[in-house]
This record gives sequence, structure tokens and C-alpha cells, in this order.
Amino acid sequence: MSTPFLLEVSGLTKSFGPLKAVNNASFCIRQGQVVGLIGANGAGKTTAMRMLATLETPDSGQILINGINAVDYPEQVRPLIGWMPDYFFPYKNTSVREYLDFFARAYGITRERLLDAVDEVVDFTELDGLQDQMINKLSKGQTQRLCLARTLISDAQFLILDEPAAGLDPKARIEFKNLVHLLKSRGKTLLISSHILSELGEMCDSLLFMDAGAIVHDGGMEDLLHRKTESGYVFEIRTAGDNTAPLEEWLALHQGWDVRSVQQHGVVASFSSCEPEAVAAELRQLCKDLPVIDFHRSERRLEEAFVDILIRRDQETPLTPEPPTSPVL
Ligand code: ATP
Repeated sequence: MSTPFLLEVSGLTKSFGPLKAVNNASFCIRQGQVVGLIGANGAGKTTAMRMLATLETPDSGQILINGINAVDYPEQVRPLIGWMPDYFFPYKNTSVREYLDFFARAYGITRERLLDAVDEVVDFTELDGLQDQMINKLSKGQTQRLCLARTLISDAQFLILDEPAAGLDPKARIEFKNLVHLLKSRGKTLLISSHILSELGEMCDSLLFMDAGAIVHDGGMEDLLHRKTESGYVFEIRTAGDNTAPLEEWLALHQGWDVRSVQQHGVVASFSSCEPEAVAAELRQLCKDLPVIDFHRSERRLEEAFVDILIRRDQETPLTPEPPTSPVL
């Protein structure tokens, strides 16, 4: 049985004047999933997330969180949500400990739980040595960890993180990725936005692509990353030595194979079936006949997948005629 949905969004729309920042977006997230929200600057990610976090009211559409209508009953869903915005206002003369203490009280955490709640998030985000540090003196990475600590303090089950890894150096990014894995292992559900695609690819179970306010892709990573043709997957194959001729010959003689390019040390070829058994049978035969040293499905970068989706979408969307400049009589 599949896990129930934590979030169900349908027809979500929000305009600012003539601009449709979010345009009829529909998607669902299951409990315990880590979902990435990807889109260029201005695609509508923050606006969509702010509506999910009950900070912005949609013009139309429905948001259900644990089955509760978030638009009609925001106060009921807020305890379920941890919101990490993409900006941070460093309060003056406030230490890390005081800052978290303040948010814990704001979330209504009782006096008895307060110390433990702050200690837990400080420990989780590895801010232990920085508790007395003034927050306007923290580095970018430390500030992001503080922001995450603040988001986690209420122990909400649905975490909405807007560009949490923006501006982090490679080491801090890896640390952040590890924190996301830990949160997932604790059963949290996460929606994480970014315009850096590779970053999300490594963290998420599933991806939502957003373009000009619309969701243009909703699904897993498998089909996005593995290059697929009309008929099947594309493989990169290499045999010992630099001579690719025997391999090319083998592929030409075996049904279903189509050589797409010959490179210096190997061949890129598509096979007419995605069925694992059919592919395994081909590989077994190939290994019997030739000294195969590498055989893998060709991967593309998420950026390429995103661009492909946008191109396909443009091709599928019929051009709407320009509105007439003067009334047609
Ligand atoms: P980024 O990656 O740059 O943060 P985004 O995908 O989060 O971008 P949004 O911040 O949601 O995009 O903005 C979507 C569009 O809505 C943009 O064109 C933006 O200028 C516009 N917009 C967002 N908030 C407002 C507002 N309060 N008033 C007017 N326009 C807004």
C-alpha cells in the first residue's frame, strides 16, 4: 500500500497585477518524501511555497495538508509546517541561543520543553560551539544552519525550505545534504526549492519543475536522468582496447540496436526495449562475444532534462494568435 499524501495541491493560482506568478499548479507529496521544486529566477517557486506555508492567499485553487484545507483553516495547518524563508534578517545584539529561545516561545513550546527543544536543534544543526555567538557575526553557512534550526524547533512534520543551500560553499552544501537525509530518516516530509538543479538531484526522491508559474514536470529522477529515445534507453558501451570496430559490428548484427555515435574508446547506442530482462540478455551475450569493460545507461544532467522539457512543451503548445490591436468589425 502506498504512503498517504501529506500535501495535495490543485489548480493553485496567484497573480500580482497582470502577472500570473503561479498558474494553475497541481501536485501532491506523499508523507516522508523529499521533493525538489526547481525553476529559474522568477518562475514562481517562492510564491507557491509561501501559499503552502499559509503566508500568502491564493486567488484560486486548493491546498490540503494532512487533509485539512490550508486556505480556509490556516491556523489548523500551521503547527504541521516548518517554513524556512530564502532571506534572513539578523537581529542585532542577539545570540544564537537567544534567537532560538525566542522562536521556541513564539511556537508555544512549554517552559518545561523549551531547554530540551533548543538543545535538540542546536545539536542537530551542529551549532553547539556557537550558542553565545551574536547572530550577525555568523558565516553564511552558520546562518543557514541557524535558519534551519529555527525551522525545526517546532518539530513540524512538513518542512518547506526555500533556497536553503543558496550561497553555501561546497563543504557546507554537503553538510546540508546530510541534514536533509537525516530529516528524511526521521520521517519528515520536505519540499526544497532551488535553481541549482544538480544540488536538488542528489537530495530528492522526486522533482517538480516550474516554468512561468506552471508545473511542467512532476516525477521521479529515473526517467529524467536516463537518456531515453522513442524506443528505449541509450547505453554507453566500451570494450578493451581502442578498436571499436568489433563492437560496432556486433551491434549492427544484433536486432534492436542502433548506434548513435562512435567515440574514441566506445560506442553510444540505443536498444529498442527498456525491459530489464531484455537488456540483461543482450549484456550477457555481448560479454560472451567481446571483452566488455563498461556498459551503462547514458545519463544526462538535470539541466539538459529541464531544457528538453521546456522545448517539448513549446512544441506541444499551439501558438495562440496575437490579439487584434483594433476591434474586428
Ligand atoms: P527566485 O528564484 O528568483 O527567488 P521564484 O521562482 O521564487 O524566483 P517568485 O519570487 O515566486 O519566483 O516570483 C514569481 C514572479 O512573481 C516574479 O516575476 C516576481 O517578480 C513576482 N512577484 C513575487 N512576489 C511579488 C509581489 N509581492 N508583488 C509583485 N510581484 C511579485
